[in-house]
Amino acid sequence: MTSASATFSFSRITGSRRRDHRSPSLAVNRPADRPRRVREEVDNCWHYYDEKERCIFCDIIRQERDTGERVIGENEHFITLAPYAPRFPFEMWLLPKVHGSSYENNQSSVYASLARMLKDTLMRLDQVLDRRRLTS
Ligand SMILES: [Zn+2]
Repeated sequence: MTSASATFSFSRITGSRRRDHRSPSLAVNRPADRPRRVREEVDNCWHYYDEKERCIFCDIIRQERDTGERVIGENEHFITLAPYAPRFPFEMWLLPKVHGSSYENNQSSVYASLARMLKDTLMRLDQVLDRRRLTS
């Protein structure tokens, strides 16, 4: 998630450099199995946490909600942002508004909320791209 996915399970991605106390058995990938870019992104998140003792994604959400400049959409559980310094055109981050370490323990209402936010985000992208121009 990365964009949308990097926020949900550091311990799963990192191979448990630091295990989440709530989900100690989630380490599925050895560090060598991780793509370099994912490893760097996760390491940067940990550096941020070491320095500020806060989650970088929670800070990003707080800052973007304050300014509102890059907020694409928002519902009860999720927010979609256009990241500062995107890596590619139309990059968007769909992030959970409540900090957590995994998806699998959420209630079904959260998944429904995620589906609605994803649909809303893709419909906005469709409007921006104006598919009629691309197909005619
Ligand atoms: Zn967080």
